[in-house]
Amino acid sequence: MKVGFIGLGNMGSAMATNLIKAGHDLQVYNRSPDKSAALVALGARKATTVADAGSAQVVVTMLADDAAVSEIVFAPGGLIHSMSANAIHISMSTISVALSRQLSEAHANAGQRYICAPVFGRPNMAALGKLFIVVAGAPGTIKECQPLLDVMGQKTLPIGTDPSAANLVKLSGNFLLAAAIEALGEAIALAGKAGIDRRAYVDILTSTLFNSPAYVTYGALIADSQFEPPGFAAPLGFKDIRLALAAAESLSVPMPFASLLRDRFLRLLANGGSNLDWCAIGGLATLDAGAATQAERHQTH
Ligand code: NAP
Repeated sequence: MKVGFIGLGNMGSAMATNLIKAGHDLQVYNRSPDKSAALVALGARKATTVADAGSAQVVVTMLADDAAVSEIVFAPGGLIHSMSANAIHISMSTISVALSRQLSEAHANAGQRYICAPVFGRPNMAALGKLFIVVAGAPGTIKECQPLLDVMGQKTLPIGTDPSAANLVKLSGNFLLAAAIEALGEAIALAGKAGIDRRAYVDILTSTLFNSPAYVTYGALIADSQFEPPGFAAPLGFKDIRLALAAAESLSVPMPFASLLRDRFLRLLANGGSNLDWCAIGGLATLDAGAATQAERHQTH
């Protein structure tokens, strides 16, 4: 299939690589052009403008946030102006429900098709083609895109015909993940300050009651204080909590934990955490406890 792929960051570069390896005809665009080089070496064509990538029959976007997606879609020469009638935009970024609705309307007015397919899974899962993809939109359009989704993900989970439903599922899922990270951070700080081996503690919990990818992945990262390099950067995690709260406010749904998590991210970012992984909020409880992490203890001995 002829595919335009826009956004070659941590996630997009891995997803686009899998599409090329699966034999799709890919034209890639990234704001910082040097990030296209590795994909061009694998056989992708480099688009020098958004409009070039937008000329494909299917265009995937995997961009940082609402501002990035708005720029790529609505700016002069953006997707709304460059996609042909009946072409499909698959929006895979984690964006707001409000922007997703705006995109639905704008693409429909332009005679184009639009589905949302945000993902669960970090860059290592993206590289393996093992993402979980939550998809919403017209069933016929999803069906046409399924061969692409099958390459990028291990499972596609449909959630109705309104594309913005997929965005809400993704945002609420990230709220749950951030809540798990904060809770893990507090529990690990407690066990660690008592002198218990942090990694052994996490292993006990994740091999019994908390045997799920979220606890296994983040428990290990927090126990080891391994927050660099960021697989999912803290500013993006902060963005997702803010977007979950915006959706909650528009529906009059109080989410006190989400408000607390917003402040945890603010604390992290205000203290130089912008280049850390989002699970660094799970390290704050250890800092607040005045306890050295195991890694720090090893360094001083
Ligand atoms: P990333 O590494 O920061 O990449 C962001 C991409 O957006 C880059 O291609 C960047 O271009 C582009 N971009 C940013 N602002 C732009 C603008 N104003 N105009 C045009 N392009 C712009 O982010 P990521 O980790 O790949 O995440 C991408 C999306 O997936 C986000 O919505 C994130 O929330 C979501 N997500 C991430 C993960 C994860 O674990 N990383 C997991 C699930 C979902 P430049 O290269 O020029 O900066």
